[in-house]
Amino acid sequence: MYDAIIVGARCGGAPLAMLLARQGQKVLLLDRMPIGSDIMSTHFLKRSGASLLRKWGLLEELNKTDTPAIQALNFHIDSLTLSGRAPACDGVDTDFTPRRTILDPILVNAADDAGVEIRDEFTVTSLVFDGDRVTGIRGKTSNGTDVTEHAKVVVGADGPHSLVGKSVGADLYVDAGTHTCGYYAYYSGIRDADDTAHLHVLTDKRRFAITFPTNDDLDMVFLFWPTAEAKDVRRDLNAASDASLRLIPDLEARVRRGERQTRITGTHILPNFFRRAHGPGWALVGDAALHRDPITAQGITNAFTHADILGEELGLALAGEKDLDTALSDYDRRQFEKLKPMFDYTVHLAMLQPLPEDLQTMLPQIVNNPDAVGAFIGAFMGSVPLDAVFPPHLLQRFSDDVERGQMEARRAA
Ligand SMILES: Cc1cc2nc3c(=O)[nH]c(=O)nc-3n(C[C@H](O)[C@H](O)[C@H](O)COP(=O)(O)OP(=O)(O)OC[C@H]3O[C@@H](n4cnc5c(N)ncnc54)[C@H](O)[C@@H]3O)c2cc1C
Repeated sequence: MYDAIIVGARCGGAPLAMLLARQGQKVLLLDRMPIGSDIMSTHFLKRSGASLLRKWGLLEELNKTDTPAIQALNFHIDSLTLSGRAPACDGVDTDFTPRRTILDPILVNAADDAGVEIRDEFTVTSLVFDGDRVTGIRGKTSNGTDVTEHAKVVVGADGPHSLVGKSVGADLYVDAGTHTCGYYAYYSGIRDADDTAHLHVLTDKRRFAITFPTNDDLDMVFLFWPTAEAKDVRRDLNAASDASLRLIPDLEARVRRGERQTRITGTHILPNFFRRAHGPGWALVGDAALHRDPITAQGITNAFTHADILGEELGLALAGEKDLDTALSDYDRRQFEKLKPMFDYTVHLAMLQPLPEDLQTMLPQIVNNPDAVGAFIGAFMGSVPLDAVFPPHLLQRFSDDVERGQMEARRAA
């Protein structure tokens, strides 16, 4: 009997396992993939996420690797460029760009050090119930042996298609549809002189691009298209990428002088949803609970945030200081309240629509004001609250876009 079984050993599951084990709980962490394997994801880790690594004592581990620490960001919005530094978040004043083959093992090693029992290449196939309460998992090892394990709580950290979430019938209570497809590749020889990250927003052409330096002297180039164009993009990724790059001459020039080192990969399955994240004996964290477009690079930070909040709530419950079901429900409420504003901003950006009039007026006015530019970038990085930068009616516009996305998604279904 474990205190907690966690399905999925990456950005949501591994830190949660670590946090519970550090509080003395008996934790089993499972993943069907080998530890250290890659996953389809770019890996811009915002300072808001990195500040949780620091809180957990893991930022030093990242600093021992060749992962770039990004100080400044260049936000190119049509012909306007906002260059600046976001304020620090809880003492962390850089963003990081670790390949997942570097970040995820740091998280799993920390869980291991804390005493978590880890089994990789183990596929969970179903849940065990006692009435409507989840009491364990059934699964298979890599050599096909069937295994059943029991726990006081089972956590699905198993990605957007969450088997745990589906097995308990957790509904998507916010489902704002899919608005982009995104494809990326790694390049050598394109390192920017200032070794920093760039975001390119072409509002009239409905294109978005993110580039940043990463490990092994490579740079990542991530291109977005409206989802309506996904079929054409997927038919010929090279041609679609070339056409997009032609619209961004600075980036095209960089890419032309370097060499692409990987194939172009990505996905058109980028839904924006909140899934109910708790119930009797179970909870969801990371993409299983909240999936959003990668356009704001928020996924890893969200997963860390989930681990942090659930680690606190479950820690109390498993220590007998709080009722378990109340703790699970409080976790779900807290994560929604904390992450919904950035979810709304993400959906708004993912719709690749013309810049709201307020921003058309505001942004040229702040371009030479380092504090204001820093705050605008900080809102994106999560180190400045969105409501400190955007007026209430603009925040309302972001959540109205989520409503509109929901209506369109319902109509399409
Ligand atoms: C194209 C793309 C680009 C992205 N770029 C960024 C970015 O720049 N910055 C950022 O912060 N986020 C980014 N994200 C989002 C980020 O990848 C996710 O938010 C993050 O990986 C979520 O972590 P997680 O632990 O919830 O789930 P995952 O990382 O998806 O891990 C889930 C784990 O569960 C395991 N699993 C699933 N089912 C089972 C089962 N039945 N049994 C056992 N194991 C199971 C899987 O093997 C997997 O290892 C991007 C996503 C995509 C798709």
